Amino acid sequence: MPEGATKICIYPGCERPAAPAHPQGGPRPAFCDLEEHNALTAHQKRQRLASAATPEHEEIQSG
Ligand SMILES: [Zn+2]
Repeated sequence: MPEGATKICIYPGCERPAAPAHPQGGPRPAFCDLEEHNALTAHQKRQRLASAATPEHEEIQSG
Protein backbone atom coordinates (compact mmCIF):
# COMPACT_ATOMS: atom_id res chain seq x y z
CA MET A 1 0.00 0.00 0.00
CA PRO A 2 1.46 3.36 -0.96
CA GLU A 3 2.32 5.80 1.78
CA GLY A 4 -0.48 8.25 2.48
CA ALA A 5 -3.21 6.04 1.05
CA THR A 6 -6.53 6.41 2.74
CA LYS A 7 -6.91 3.70 5.31
CA ILE A 8 -10.37 2.47 6.14
CA CYS A 9 -11.51 1.72 9.67
CA ILE A 10 -11.22 -2.01 10.32
CA TYR A 11 -14.33 -2.09 12.50
CA PRO A 12 -16.69 -4.65 10.93
CA GLY A 13 -19.13 -2.85 8.65
CA CYS A 14 -17.51 0.53 9.10
CA GLU A 15 -16.38 2.31 5.96
CA ARG A 16 -15.17 5.51 7.53
CA PRO A 17 -11.59 6.54 6.90
CA ALA A 18 -9.24 5.67 9.72
CA ALA A 19 -8.16 8.47 11.99
CA PRO A 20 -5.02 10.31 10.90
CA ALA A 21 -1.74 9.32 12.43
CA HIS A 22 -0.63 11.14 15.53
CA PRO A 23 1.34 14.27 14.57
CA GLN A 24 4.08 13.28 17.00
CA GLY A 25 4.47 9.92 15.36
CA GLY A 26 3.51 6.44 16.33
CA PRO A 27 1.52 3.75 14.63
CA ARG A 28 -1.29 4.83 12.36
CA PRO A 29 -4.71 4.16 13.91
CA ALA A 30 -6.61 1.29 12.36
CA PHE A 31 -9.96 2.73 13.41
CA CYS A 32 -11.88 5.86 12.56
CA ASP A 33 -12.43 8.69 15.00
CA LEU A 34 -15.55 7.15 16.53
CA GLU A 35 -14.89 6.44 20.18
CA GLU A 36 -16.87 3.21 20.05
CA HIS A 37 -14.66 1.88 17.30
CA ASN A 38 -11.62 0.34 18.89
CA ALA A 39 -9.89 -3.02 19.17
CA LEU A 40 -12.18 -4.16 21.97
CA THR A 41 -15.51 -3.26 20.39
CA ALA A 42 -14.36 -4.55 17.01
CA HIS A 43 -13.49 -7.87 18.63
CA GLN A 44 -16.90 -8.04 20.32
CA LYS A 45 -18.62 -7.13 17.05
CA ARG A 46 -16.78 -9.91 15.21
CA GLN A 47 -17.76 -12.37 17.90
CA ARG A 48 -21.38 -11.34 17.48
CA LEU A 49 -21.19 -11.61 13.71
CA ALA A 50 -19.55 -15.03 13.96
CA SER A 51 -22.23 -16.36 16.29
CA ALA A 52 -24.95 -14.85 14.11
CA ALA A 53 -23.52 -16.54 11.04
CA THR A 54 -23.64 -19.91 12.75
CA PRO A 55 -27.04 -21.54 12.33
CA GLU A 56 -28.59 -22.39 15.65
CA HIS A 57 -30.53 -25.27 14.21
CA GLU A 58 -29.35 -27.98 11.93
CA GLU A 59 -30.82 -28.16 8.53
CA ILE A 60 -32.99 -31.16 7.99
CA GLN A 61 -31.87 -32.88 4.88
CA SER A 62 -34.52 -34.76 3.06
CA GLY A 63 -33.40 -37.23 0.61
ZN1 LIG B 1 -15.12 2.98 12.35
